[in-house]
Amino acid sequence: MPSGGHATPQRGISVSSRRGWAPPPVKKMDFQLHPHDDAHTYHFCPQCGGALERRLLKATEPERLVCTRCGFVFYIDPKIAVGTIIKTPADRLVLVKRAIDPGYGKWVFPGGYVDRGETLTRAAIREAREECGLDVQLEGLVNIYSYAGRAPVIIVYAATAIGGTLCADEECLETAEFDATAIPWDNLAFRSTHEGLRDYLAGLLHPVRL
Ligand SMILES: [Zn+2]
Repeated sequence: MPSGGHATPQRGISVSSRRGWAPPPVKKMDFQLHPHDDAHTYHFCPQCGGALERRLLKATEPERLVCTRCGFVFYIDPKIAVGTIIKTPADRLVLVKRAIDPGYGKWVFPGGYVDRGETLTRAAIREAREECGLDVQLEGLVNIYSYAGRAPVIIVYAATAIGGTLCADEECLETAEFDATAIPWDNLAFRSTHEGLRDYLAGLLHPVRL
């Protein structure tokens, strides 16, 4: 399979035989906040345009934005994203270098937000095709990542490339295949990128009904 980016010169262990692989050292990572993590500054009701105010509706829940005119409750929901760790026929993993913030210039596995009404698995396959040009077959669920105070919930799948040609779309600067021993741990975009790859390489995999 041709590579849209640089091929790693290192000879590494194959992903499928992970003996000898050790998790990367855990250290304080400088992961960027996503725009959806920022404090929300919504002022007007999306239903009627009336003013929103914060109200405590249930003692056990956070304050909600409530319309002072029509009573509409503006729930600020989590953002659901999928990511796909793709193994190539050469037993390497596909990463893309982001061309947009947050995480500009850093590596991440292909992924993106799930559209409303779209199934998670279909979104994972779609994002892989869009971001790196590969057709993939999902092999299972690695894990689901959520963080206190952060809006995104990231569902990470393991997949195998079954077709297509590795290339970069407008959201990435470069795509490349990496040996498991050559993952750029110090230059990954998000905490979920780090933890997803770590868990994948440690063998974490849950069956999914596709
Ligand atoms: Zn309203």
